[in-house]
Amino acid sequence: MLAAVLHGQTDLRLETVPDPIPQPGEVVIAVEVATTCGTDLKVWRRGGHAKMLQPPTLFGHEAAGQIVALGEGVEGWSIGDRVVANNSAPCLSCFYCQRQEFSLCTDLTFNNGTFAQYQKIPAPIVTQNLLAIPDHLASATASLTEPLACVLHGISRSGFQVPLQGQLPSKSL
Ligand SMILES: [Zn+2]
Ligand SMILES: [Zn+2]
Repeated sequence: MLAAVLHGQTDLRLETVPDPIPQPGEVVIAVEVATTCGTDLKVWRRGGHAKMLQPPTLFGHEAAGQIVALGEGVEGWSIGDRVVANNSAPCLSCFYCQRQEFSLCTDLTFNNGTFAQYQKIPAPIVTQNLLAIPDHLASATASLTEPLACVLHGISRSGFQVPLQGQLPSKSL
């Protein structure tokens, strides 16, 4: 397959690499839409990411696509299903996971490699964070799931409430 491979600081090359083959519990998707996140820009500028990406590496972590291969033991998904695979899955057993603070998990499984024709999705993400795209939703819109989730999570953690009409400070609009 064709893939963008990061070799170092601002050194990104389009290369032919082996097609991914799903191991037990994994699926492979054909990437239809991949978006570029602020994290991708930082990774490109820095030439990697301390926790996730050591060059040379595939990268990119926001995409919508279609399942083209299923690993042994995968249940509930079929070839042809349109999906978004979120970019990480918590371990479910660390200090933070036991307290339902999954975003603070110390042993996240990451999912990188959306800037490619195909992407292999790790088993913990298949079981916890693989989302079906409704038929009416365009893939370009569905690919924005992760940034949208970040915004919604941030708003919910902030305790922000939309003021009722009439309660807005007079000069706020
Ligand atoms: Zn992102
Ligand atoms: Zn954890």
